[in-house]
Amino acid sequence: MSLLRSVTTSVNTEPSVKRQQRQALRAPLELQLTLPRLLGGTLDRDLVLQRFHEIIGNDLDIAHLDLIDDAEHYRFSRGTAAGHQLCYQLKIENEHLATLTMTRSLPFNEQEMIWLEQAIVHLLMPLKHALQYAEALEQAMSDGLTGLGNRRAMNQALNRCIRSSHRYERVSSLLMLDIDHFKNINDKHGHAMGDHVLTVLAQTLHSALRLTDQAFRYGGEEFIILLPEASMTGARIVAERLRQAIDGMDIQGIFPTVSIGLACLRPDDNLNTWLNRTDQALYQAKRQGRNRIVDDGQLTD
Ligand code: GH3
Ligand code: MG
Ligand code: MG
Repeated sequence: MSLLRSVTTSVNTEPSVKRQQRQALRAPLELQLTLPRLLGGTLDRDLVLQRFHEIIGNDLDIAHLDLIDDAEHYRFSRGTAAGHQLCYQLKIENEHLATLTMTRSLPFNEQEMIWLEQAIVHLLMPLKHALQYAEALEQAMSDGLTGLGNRRAMNQALNRCIRSSHRYERVSSLLMLDIDHFKNINDKHGHAMGDHVLTVLAQTLHSALRLTDQAFRYGGEEFIILLPEASMTGARIVAERLRQAIDGMDIQGIFPTVSIGLACLRPDDNLNTWLNRTDQALYQAKRQGRNRIVDDGQLTD
């Protein structure tokens, strides 16, 4: 384990009264007894950092604590930045884990920094485990080729959406997209190029959607788009936008199109019935000539 410290500190403007009022740092033995139990007791990275923040934030009057992981995928940030900054590069066996930055209105003195470093030592392993756990969860939920949510993630999201749509009596919509004649693309340009087309289309879907909408890879060349709280009219607009965006693409001389099935959630629907109606609508879109959108014919608005 190693900590690389960097301090940005200006002139000490700490009023002496405030200095006296500041509470004493808890003893190293207390840190040693409480921190491993508190931080090691969970694999939730937010909770690990929240607990760490509560202890050191309180003892050191930290105004702002910020942690960003090595891959810059995850950030924990609490409070508002102040003038004096202390920054640590957190490493375990030469593997860079994260950058931890704390600021406050008063400079950090040597005794406080030594105390803090003792606390950080207890943070390292629980943080590493929590970050690894989050990454494993993310991998278990995402499709290896396209990076979109996989079927497991889709089932979870759809079930959650069904529950809340039923409870609040809201309409939500589902799109099922299937690339037209994808087998021909593979046959003509090779499987690797087919994979590339899948990846590009997945990116297009992802970036064309609102934050609340979600795209999943359902199967080989099929995608599901979940549009929470979207009516038939709203879902059609989204579907048409996606269809057109893909229809206009030129991926190294390949011009893909997609067929789209659309179905709104009905009060008596469950996951399977909703997916089945969307699938049936997609089947009709294929039958009617592809590169089009067909809904399940059950108007809800
Ligand atoms: P349609 O318009 O009726 O959908 O025709 P299609 O050719 O797209 O449908 P079909 O179901 O006949 O073929 C789907 C093809 O998708 C066959 C399969 O080899 C290919 N495929 C499935 N998964 C992958 C993948 O991960 N990568 C690549 N490159 N191809 C895949
Ligand atoms: Mg298919
Ligand atoms: Mg297809």
